Amino acid sequence: MLNTYQSTLIKKHPSLPARIMRIVTPHGEVLTPTFMPVGTRAMLNYATPTDLEANGSRLILGGNTYHMLCTPGMDVIESVGGMHKFMGWPHAMLTDSGGFQVFSLAKKGSVCIIDEDGAVFKHPLTGKIIHLNPKTSIQTQKMIGADIIMAFDQCTPEAGGRETALAALDRTHRWLVLSKKEHEKNPSSYYGLRQALFGIIQGGSFRDLREQSTHFILQQDLDGIGIGGEVIGFNMPKTCEIIDWVRPMLPENKIRYTMGVGLGPQDLIDVVAKGIDIFDCVAPTRNARHGTLYYGEIIERDGWLAFEHPQARTQVSNIEKCRILIKKNNYAKDDAPIMPNCSCYTCQHFSRAYLHYLFKEGLIAYFHLASIHNIHVMQAVCTHMRELILKV
Ligand SMILES: [Zn+2]
Repeated sequence: MLNTYQSTLIKKHPSLPARIMRIVTPHGEVLTPTFMPVGTRAMLNYATPTDLEANGSRLILGGNTYHMLCTPGMDVIESVGGMHKFMGWPHAMLTDSGGFQVFSLAKKGSVCIIDEDGAVFKHPLTGKIIHLNPKTSIQTQKMIGADIIMAFDQCTPEAGGRETALAALDRTHRWLVLSKKEHEKNPSSYYGLRQALFGIIQGGSFRDLREQSTHFILQQDLDGIGIGGEVIGFNMPKTCEIIDWVRPMLPENKIRYTMGVGLGPQDLIDVVAKGIDIFDCVAPTRNARHGTLYYGEIIERDGWLAFEHPQARTQVSNIEKCRILIKKNNYAKDDAPIMPNCSCYTCQHFSRAYLHYLFKEGLIAYFHLASIHNIHVMQAVCTHMRELILKV
């Protein structure tokens, strides 16, 4: 393995901004587009690293900075040699800055205070005061040892209007400069491996603010570019519109990351068509836990792809149709796999009837098998996109 970070354009789609990039990290290579499963608490809910390798995952979001600061604490992570070793993941890893979690906490009330210096919050169990700011966020991410780390930012809430979006943008930019300064003191992890620093474009749903933020982020000459804010991934038409605003400004050789995109397989297809390379979302595993399993066919049409229900191609609400609610009684005696054309371990070995039974009884095996399927579908869609871009 090379102790370096590089991103290289491999091939562009001839008529869309979609592309294949190669990322080289100290923990191996990654081809994009790729979905990053999220290991919030240093594990994927009900999926092992072996499960993730089997479905083609080579880049994960490992251990959120906020959660790792709280439990088990950075002294534990550092003492075992970093997050890769701690959670048994040998491939590439990205971690977050903790900004999104403190934003979520602050929205819930007084448990967290955000000001110009950063965020101050109480440890949820011990009551210990924890400071998260550009300096401590970057140092924590260096202890985690992820291959890609994120500048500390303030997530832009959608409800606040232009004034709030502008304030979050200004603060994010000031924090970016401090994050970069901290990173450049030694651009490696505590374990001596090169780390890439990504900045995050904010600006809410305001075109001029998004463009202003993009301009600022690019001036900092970082390793890659995140596109953040509450709207991203939550409102997909607006997410695609925002990407269209900023993409013409973005360099071709840097990775583009929409943060929190992936409620379902079609969302990945939509942002890759707009020129995005990587994305993360907790939805596939959360959906699986709640009994919602992805179901559909990956269709090639007009030089691109769609994830569609086989019998509902004309339906407007196709996304809602592309799911099986396994709790429904009509699956109790259904001996078909979740998705007949799926090559995941679950679909190759088990029926809907079995999964229905496991779910109804609340048996742990259900959560494991369901998570394997949903993550597999997200990666299968990415594999199809790479294959299509290569052949057209
Ligand atoms: Zn499957």
